[in-house]
Amino acid sequence: MSDRLSGGCLCGSVRFSARPENGEMAVCHCSMCRHWSGGAFMAVSCGTMDSIEVKGEDTLGVYKSSDYGERVFCAKCGSNLMWRMADGSHTSVAAQAFDDPSAFKFTTEIFVDEQPANYAFANDTRKMTGPEVFALFAQQQDPQHG
Ligand SMILES: [Zn+2]
Ligand SMILES: [Zn+2]
Repeated sequence: MSDRLSGGCLCGSVRFSARPENGEMAVCHCSMCRHWSGGAFMAVSCGTMDSIEVKGEDTLGVYKSSDYGERVFCAKCGSNLMWRMADGSHTSVAAQAFDDPSAFKFTTEIFVDEQPANYAFANDTRKMTGPEVFALFAQQQDPQHG
């Protein structure tokens, strides 16, 4: 998938276009993502921050949630827009912020060891625990979802 796809926040103050690295959507069940998003965080890898075009940038709120990670949202309506590496080297854009979230294939669930027992997705996905995710991203030097 190399087309630019557009999206935005609930109130319309922030609009963006991003180029997904592939057509895949991953869901994170970690405690931080659940608190931040109010659900399981559904995200699409979209490369570096430089590759994302944002309109309404002055309305973006940024919360630094770990040594390396930041969470970006609309400061006006609170919509979750992306998780990103603080240095801008990687972005995971909220799947549901895109105008057509059905464009993505739901392939992966991460931090399943932190998933509450009272829900489960029926999709056939690859499931990874937090330690498995950190091991994988340590190889790629691309830690995720802190
Ligand atoms: Zn908004
Ligand atoms: Zn997470």
